[in-house]
Parts: sequence; structure tokens; C-alpha cells
Amino acid sequence: MAFMHCPFCNETDTKVIDSRLVAEGGQVRRRRECASCKERFSTFESAELVMPRIIKQNGSREPFNEEKLRDGFQRALEKRPVSVEAIELSVQNVKHHLQVLGEREIKSLLVGEQVMAELRSLDQVAYVRFASVYRSFQDISEFQQEIDRLNQPHAQEGTAQPTTQADGQANNPLHPAPPKPSLKQL
Ligand SMILES: [Zn+2]
Repeated sequence: MAFMHCPFCNETDTKVIDSRLVAEGGQVRRRRECASCKERFSTFESAELVMPRIIKQNGSREPFNEEKLRDGFQRALEKRPVSVEAIELSVQNVKHHLQVLGEREIKSLLVGEQVMAELRSLDQVAYVRFASVYRSFQDISEFQQEIDRLNQPHAQEGTAQPTTQADGQANNPLHPAPPKPSLKQL
């Protein structure tokens, strides 16, 4: 894709300050700021053209690889009751999100965060599995926060609770369901 020139001074180094989808996701409207003259302008770009390159942990760059993304999901969801269609939808959601960012390059960490967000709604066990591996090189307290965050909204969401023995017990308002034991097994 051609660089986005500043219409005022022709500078190619412009920064995206806001992105939103228009025309049912087919186009992205971007608010950009020129790095040189600081003027701001809007662009309309086709969403297909804006898949960013990935900046790896060691600083090297590589093209976005959809196959790799799909593999990541499949590994995290191995032996979990999640359909191929649901995985595919998550892959597309992540791609979509990265496109909307409108950056030419993004850190691989950001992709990981998006995968985690998708896994969280797909399958809680896979989410924790992925998060524990993915975050191991980061602060361990951060991982604990993820677990805590996972526990809080879960009680209200009423999503699948594979380890709860009896539904009647779990739904009794006088005896709220205990914390999910499955987290401890991991
Ligand atoms: Zn300019």
C-alpha cells in the first residue's frame, strides 16, 4: 500500500490518531496527523489494504501471517469443545481489529492481547491456558490479575460451567456457586 502523504506538506510520516469503520466495515475512516507540519486530515481506506506488519519481541519485522494466528488458536483450543467455525470467526475478529488500528506496524504483543480477548469469550479453560503461557515472561502478578478478572464477571455471565456438579445448586441465590475449581487444576 502506498504511504499516506500529508496533503499540506507531502510528508509521508503520518500518525493515525483515530480510526473507525464506515460502510459496514468495508472502509476505514482515519484521522491522521502529519509528523512534520502537525496538520490533521482524514482518509478513507479500504480495510483489505491495511494489514499491519508485526514487530516481534526481538525487534525484527515480519508480515502478518493468518495461518500462524489460526495455529495459535488451535493450539490453545486443543481438545476443547469449540467448533472450527467459532475459531474462524475469532481469527477474523482479530484481523479486523488489527486492520482498524490503522498502523503500518504493530507489536506482536498486541496480537497476543487480541487472541486472549477472543479466547476469553470462546473458552475459559483455553483462555487461562493461553494466558499462563503467553504471560509467563511478564509480571506474574499480571497473570494473577487476569485470573481475578476472569472470576469476577463470570458469576453474572452464566456461561458454560463445565465443573459445576448440579445446576440447582449453582443457581440457588442463597448459596452462590463456589469459585470454579477448574482454574486451580491448571
Ligand atoms: Zn504535513
